Amino acid sequence: MKVQTTLPPTAAPIPAAALAAGLRGLLGASGDAATIRRELQTWLQADYVDLVSSGKAALAIILGALASAAPKRRRVIIPAYTCYSVPSAVVKAGLDVVPCDVDPLTLDFRPDVLERLVDQQTLAVLATHLFGNPSAIDRAVTVAHARGALVIEDAAQAMGAESNGRVIGTIGDVGFFSLGRGKNLSCGGGGVIVSRQPKVSELLGRFAASLETESWTTAAQVWAESFVTSVLIHPGVYWLPAGLPFLGLGETKFYTDFPVTRMADARVSLLAGWRSRLEEDNRIRRGHAAELIQLLRQHAPESQVVMGANSIGLRLPVLLKDRAMKQALLRIGSERGLGISQAYPGTIPDVKELQGRVSGVADAGARAVVERMVTLPTHRYVTRAQRLAIAESIGQLYAEGRRQGVANDVGGLGTTRTVGKASGAASSKPGDGVAKVGALHG
Ligand SMILES: *Cc1c(COP(=O)(O)O)cnc(C)c1O
Repeated sequence: MKVQTTLPPTAAPIPAAALAAGLRGLLGASGDAATIRRELQTWLQADYVDLVSSGKAALAIILGALASAAPKRRRVIIPAYTCYSVPSAVVKAGLDVVPCDVDPLTLDFRPDVLERLVDQQTLAVLATHLFGNPSAIDRAVTVAHARGALVIEDAAQAMGAESNGRVIGTIGDVGFFSLGRGKNLSCGGGGVIVSRQPKVSELLGRFAASLETESWTTAAQVWAESFVTSVLIHPGVYWLPAGLPFLGLGETKFYTDFPVTRMADARVSLLAGWRSRLEEDNRIRRGHAAELIQLLRQHAPESQVVMGANSIGLRLPVLLKDRAMKQALLRIGSERGLGISQAYPGTIPDVKELQGRVSGVADAGARAVVERMVTLPTHRYVTRAQRLAIAESIGQLYAEGRRQGVANDVGGLGTTRTVGKASGAASSKPGDGVAKVGALHG
């Protein structure tokens, strides 16, 4: 354990006022929770909004509800590179995981592969807005609906993002957000289900009627954890939890024995002031991401940034030259406490527990992401000096590579590029994306 300023890869702090509201909730007051539920409903303009124990619980509930109306459809198409909670929820719902390869330059589905995978046995396509980058949702809807399948939006990492004036999470047939600690907005863990489709809402209502609400003890435990986290998330002390391996911070695991319950009012209260918290944190993240992009263009023009114009930059994904460079940067980042992370350690077909369940899938794109991608921290605790140190570290690695005479071929692309989604939201011309990212926050 190294005692030094240490950045977490992500941070969505719970302010003191919200901790106080949470405490009021534990003592029996339900006013805060009622207000929050109403505000969420208004913001999402939805006929069904429910708060549940986690993002993966939200997904398991959605899948259970959809499957109840289409017993012959068992296949759920998910990105071959995503959070391991996603296949966990699919397996928990008793359905089949079908990974679809992703394009490393967008982290979204490869359209040709998606087209081939969706069939009459497909229940749903999980369009995923990874790291806050809106996915090409309209394209997924067209492909899915043509075969009678639905589109679920995995907006776990994109709460507060918009695309053409539409709130991400409400564009597909049904969607969910995560309120986990590493996400855009947190109440110590939780999920939000949202549907605007009367038919889907009815299925959800029927399915969710049998769910229990989490116990007071669970809510109290989450409050206590949130209190401790609000102290330990600060870079001045984060070295402590980061150095305790048994906490498993930042780990991503496949497991299906997670609770699927409604969220207790006491825990909902921890979201007090959620709208301004979300907007403020997202504004800061976008600003930091835009600045990192600019610094990378200066110091490491060979690196490739994956950030479309509508991204809210929960983290900034960057593709490096190769696995050796990725590992070197993770080492430097860890030594210097810079909050650089590899996100997920493998592709979905790599997940041990899924061996024998998914096979024969092409995942070259997802594999390239695992080989070459790191995510840079964008949250409020990252200082200007740390952003510079990150960009310079990457620049130095490229310079070393050149000195060693290693062919400097980053997928044949010579410059730092801001890569947009195929939805046409962003351009892949150098320079364009940054201008647009900058424009988002004036
Ligand atoms: C975090 C996450 C989930 C699951 O959310 P939890 O609240 O952690 O259960 C699902 N999908 C993605 C892309 C995520 O990042």
